[in-house]
Amino acid sequence: MRRTRTLAGIGIAAVALLALTACNSGTPGDTMGDGDDPGTSEEGPLWEVAADVSLEGSPTFDAMTERGKVVIGVKSDQPGLGYEDPATGDRTGFDVDTARWIAASLGFADEDIEWKTIPSANREQELINGGVDFYVGTYSMTEARDEVIDFAGPYFITGQGLLVAADDDSINGPDDLAGKVTCSVTGSTPLQRIREEYNGEVTERQTYSECVEQLLSDQVDAITTDEAILAGYVAQDPDNLKLTGEPFSEERYGVGLVNGDTALQDHINTLFTDGGDVWTALYEKYLEPAGVVAEQPAVD
Ligand code: GLU
Repeated sequence: MRRTRTLAGIGIAAVALLALTACNSGTPGDTMGDGDDPGTSEEGPLWEVAADVSLEGSPTFDAMTERGKVVIGVKSDQPGLGYEDPATGDRTGFDVDTARWIAASLGFADEDIEWKTIPSANREQELINGGVDFYVGTYSMTEARDEVIDFAGPYFITGQGLLVAADDDSINGPDDLAGKVTCSVTGSTPLQRIREEYNGEVTERQTYSECVEQLLSDQVDAITTDEAILAGYVAQDPDNLKLTGEPFSEERYGVGLVNGDTALQDHINTLFTDGGDVWTALYEKYLEPAGVVAEQPAVD
């Protein structure tokens, strides 16, 4: 069993802070981002759209330049990270804005971005097929994935956790899952770990929001995935949901890239290394209000 303590412990008490800031649309504490222009903070724009960019030796950049737009893979049901408002179609979250920041550094403004929602199970294949130029969506850098695609980063570190009903005191860590039913997502690292290293029944879905529906309707006892993701669901529904236990893995998020595009990989890694202010502004806007505790990691 792995029990690595990560930087990303979650302070559940901080959810109370979200309740305050969530009413305050248009401020940096607004987790859903309603009323904010993407890429802006109270101090103004966080980044400029770069002009006259050239990226020698990047087939991905050549393809997007020829097309005149960039196609980015994201999640759409993970509040605070990758979220699409069903009413307005607005995309918000730490991952989504990180993707906008990368696009801007390559010379592509918001209107030049085509978003594609891709579930966890389809990410590698989508990159291999050229269906997206890059992918930003709670995508853990693992050796197995690294065999078939490349990653820039890490740009964020969290750990696997557990989400249960707010009134459930029977589950306080993964060892308590024996005799319980746990939901996770096909093709994700938390699903694999819970199956291989712990006891209990596991049911899988395509998205974490489907798992949340199952938990709220008492069809499962717990959900497991990264705490940064789970904290977003708790922030939306603190009366019914809570995080339990300590993180029990280290999930290092990277930007998924087509295998071998080292020019684009270097470009994004340099952007992250030089962009501490942007990282902090996005973290304070989207994740800190939900109680996610993290620091900017160094890239590999
Ligand atoms: N970070 C984990 C993974 O990449 C879980 C989150 C997700 O499914 O996107 O598998």
